[in-house]
Parts: sequence; structure tokens; C-alpha cells
Amino acid sequence: MKIPMLDLNPEIDLLWEELMQAMQQVLRSGHFIMGSQGKAFESEVARYLGCKHAIGLNSGTDALVIALRAAGIGPGDEVITTPFTFFATAEAISHVGAVPVFVDVVQETLNLDAKALEQAITPRTKAVIPVHLYGNPCDLEPIMAIASQHGLRVIEDVAQAFGGEYRGRKVGTWGDAGCFSFFPTKNLGAYGDGGLLVTDDDELAEQARMLRQHGAKRKYFNEVIGYNSRLDELQAAILRVKLQRIEEFNEGRIQAASYYRKLLEGVAGIKCLDEQSDSRHVYHQMTVLITNDMRDQVQKRLAEEGIDTMIYYPVPVHKLPVYQGLGYQLPIAERAANQALSLPIWPQIGRNIQEHVIDKLKEALV
Ligand SMILES: *Cc1c(COP(=O)(O)O)cnc(C)c1O
Repeated sequence: MKIPMLDLNPEIDLLWEELMQAMQQVLRSGHFIMGSQGKAFESEVARYLGCKHAIGLNSGTDALVIALRAAGIGPGDEVITTPFTFFATAEAISHVGAVPVFVDVVQETLNLDAKALEQAITPRTKAVIPVHLYGNPCDLEPIMAIASQHGLRVIEDVAQAFGGEYRGRKVGTWGDAGCFSFFPTKNLGAYGDGGLLVTDDDELAEQARMLRQHGAKRKYFNEVIGYNSRLDELQAAILRVKLQRIEEFNEGRIQAASYYRKLLEGVAGIKCLDEQSDSRHVYHQMTVLITNDMRDQVQKRLAEEGIDTMIYYPVPVHKLPVYQGLGYQLPIAERAANQALSLPIWPQIGRNIQEHVIDKLKEALV
């Protein structure tokens, strides 16, 4: 049995007619950038998330860059974030001319450690970017409290956690801005690149809208150096179809994760990450820790059985070439990079597939 990390075919089969109709409508409209689909998606997604402004963008990376710029972060500023994330989180900080400051993660979830955050604050610190890794909401309450005490902006990286909740409220709507990605593999994925910035702050929203259109509020009256970063009409139309099913899709992931957890109970050498009782983890990834130093062998053995797995992330961001010179040593993130293994998951994954994955995983562990 050949098992991919993610199978988009069940979703495409289910939504085929609606997707074709939505795409035809865009083609026939002759309007491909900044039209009615994008507007409708922005208002529907704002309603779903429970926020005032939603601004469609080119990618999750652009959402982070534009959120930082719109929040007034730039050269000379420090922005604290986690090293256990996709490179884009730190890259965005560097792009606006600020300095990324990395603090370690907590072992139980691999999310940003609030205590370490507080210790890393200096007079230059202007913002913090918590990342809801694998779809698991960060413990936001202490992060928000520290940020408010020190006057820091909070920009949530919600690229992996669309629909996740913390204390009954959607992640992405806690901070000054939330940055989503619609990269095709994400929980709410387009069929191309796409991103979203959400905020309740009118001023930040106005800046972000201006930045996505070459720094112009009115066409050809450019005020600042901006970007060409818009969510196109085809992707917006596709996302509108998929947004209607996001609850069902996230629920499918949650059910699948809970079955994996059950199958893994008592298996020596494997540790599942913690779920918080006051949050809704939407399982962008089902990631386990292989604690007996055999992670790479296990991955190889599974590959030989036709089972795809992924390592998010094999090198923590502070050890990548561009940031290595900063000299950080962050032991929990570094250990996680040697232990983390993400298993195949998608909303419609069958229990038989999951049982097969875990059978082979157990065999590979001995
Ligand atoms: C995917 C991802 C991004 C970047 O999103 P793109 O749409 O690919 O630019 C940023 N941060 C995290 C944590 C991600 O997983």
C-alpha cells in the first residue's frame, strides 16, 4: 500500500461540481485580480473567524511581512519568535529590516515558551510572533499578558492553524494581527499561493490594504514603497467553496488524530505532543516524537514500505545558514529537530490506512 502525506483527491472529488462552477464564473467574468470573489471571500472569512478586517494577500509569507510593516516594525527593532517553525516566520522579520530574536519552545507542544519570551525582552523589542505549530494553539494568555505589559505588538503566525481555537476564540484574532497561508497543503488550502491578514485594528488594516497595492490607497497615487500582493479571483473563488466545508474537514483531522493517539497508546519510544484542554488543535500535522534516537531509521523503514512521512523541521531556524552566525543555542528546539516525525493525515484518511501506518511504525521501532 502506497500512502502519501496528504491526499487532496477525496476533497476534489467531493467538491468537483462546485469548484468547476466557481472557476467558470471567474473565467467568464473576465475579472482576475481584486474583484467580487476576493471581496466576498474577505467578508465570509472575517465572519467565520470573528474579526473586523480580513485582507486577502499573495501568501502567508507576505501576510507576515505586511503585518510587520503595517504595525510599524522596521530597522533597529527586535522581534521575538520561535526557532521551531517554517523559515518564513523569521524571514519576514529580516525582510522588514528588523532583527529576529529566537527563544526556545516548550517540550510538551514545541510552541513558544512564554517565560523565555519575557526574559528576551530588551528596550528594542517591538513585537512577538507566536506560531501555532502543527495546528496546535499556543498558550496565548501569558503571551498576551507579557506583550501588553511591555507594549509589544503580537502578530500570530496562523499558517498551520486555520479554524483552531484558544479559550473559545479563533486563533489569529487574539493578537494585533493574524497571518494565514492558503498554500495548497494547509488546512484551508487554495490550488496555488494565497494568504490572509486579519485584524480588528482599523489603522493596521488601512496600512495593510495600502501595502498590498504598491503603497497606494488610490490607484496611481502611491504613498509608500509597498508590494504587489493580492489574492487572485480564482483562488478566492476556490477558497469560498472550501471555507463552507472547513468545519467538516478540520473535524475529520481531529478524529483522525484522536485515532492515531489511541493506536499509539503505550508504544515504547514514541511520544505524542500535548493537546491543551482549553484549545482546539486542528491537526495540520500529526507529529510524534521518536524518543529512542531512531527517527531517521524509522522514516527510512516506513519509506521502504511506501509510507510517506515528513520532518517538520530537520534544522531549527536559528541553525540555518543565515541565522547560524547569531550563535543561539536552544536545546529543546534542537532536540525536537532530531525527534519529530509527522505522519500522513488528511480529513478523509481511512482508519485502515492509519492502522497500517502504525503497524509499520511499530515494526520500524524494534
Ligand atoms: C506555510 C507557512 C508560512 C508561509 O506561508 P506561504 O503561504 O507558503 O508563504 C509561514 N509560517 C508557517 C508556520 C508556515 O507553515
